[in-house]
Amino acid sequence: AAPLVVAVSTAISAKNGLLIRNRGNFEEARNLNAVVFDKTGTLTKGEFGVTDVVPREGYSEEDVVYYAASLEQQSEHPIAAGIVNEAKEKVIHLGKIEEFQSITGKGIEGKVDGNKINAVSPGYVKSQNLVYDKDLFNQMSEEGKTVIFVLMNDTLIGMIALADMVRDTAKEAVARLRDKGIRSIMLTGDNKKVANWVAKQLGIDEVYAEVLPDDKANQVKKIQGKGCKVAMTGDGINDAPALATADLGIAIGAGTDVAMETADVVLVKSNPNDVVGLMDLSRKTYRKMV
Ligand code: ADP
Ligand code: MG
Repeated sequence: AAPLVVAVSTAISAKNGLLIRNRGNFEEARNLNAVVFDKTGTLTKGEFGVTDVVPREGYSEEDVVYYAASLEQQSEHPIAAGIVNEAKEKVIHLGKIEEFQSITGKGIEGKVDGNKINAVSPGYVKSQNLVYDKDLFNQMSEEGKTVIFVLMNDTLIGMIALADMVRDTAKEAVARLRDKGIRSIMLTGDNKKVANWVAKQLGIDEVYAEVLPDDKANQVKKIQGKGCKVAMTGDGINDAPALATADLGIAIGAGTDVAMETADVVLVKSNPNDVVGLMDLSRKTYRKMV
């Protein structure tokens, strides 16, 4: 009877917005103890809007948006779309980029009009000991804004703050998992203050922030190490190592191809709440088989 049950469950899963790519790991979903969620694009919509542009003395807001957006044209990160849109709205025409490269989890680099430009994370700026307005940075971060720094020839020329929206369905998912006795954990490359702000909206009390891609995988291993069966849910290229490491890798349908190709299950509707449906379906399907 097993193959019939499986075939039926495939149809049911499709109806529930689930694409099951690895049946063996899906079977394990009924035994999960913890679900790890990436923040940007997973718990949040990943649709950033620019809220503040803060140029350093000697530069204009336009300068900062021009250089950042010219570079971000080449990036797939949700932050990039937010900055490029800002340039469109302000009718700032973008420059040509050369030697573009992405520094995973830290930002991007390239040449615009012959100048070396970086758009980078607060962590990178701190590691380079660059001087910036810490009070303003802290204030914006505490409001839940993601702040990126724009550098020209290794000198800071400004900050750009962006706001994303929390998915309502994510809050529901966390509450339902808690009812089942399953821990929800947030893992993000973004700044601690932003991470805490989002976690608070969602009722998540376990947060790991400023985590680089390989460390995301290590963090999953650590949680597994305590005898836990762990699912990882993510959307980005930076989530791929963690998706592969987890007992169950779950990709957001609206995310990157790399995440979907690495995951065991894809949430076709990009609804974090479907993680709960997935666990119920796994339990129903495999209980019938044994
Ligand atoms: P998350 O884990 O929340 O999805 P990432 O690991 O993708 O975040 O990114 C971590 C940080 O690296 C971002 O918060 C940002 O500061 C920086 N970053 C990544 N990509 C870009 C980009 N295209 N432009 C500017 N900064 C970026
Ligand atoms: Mg993400």
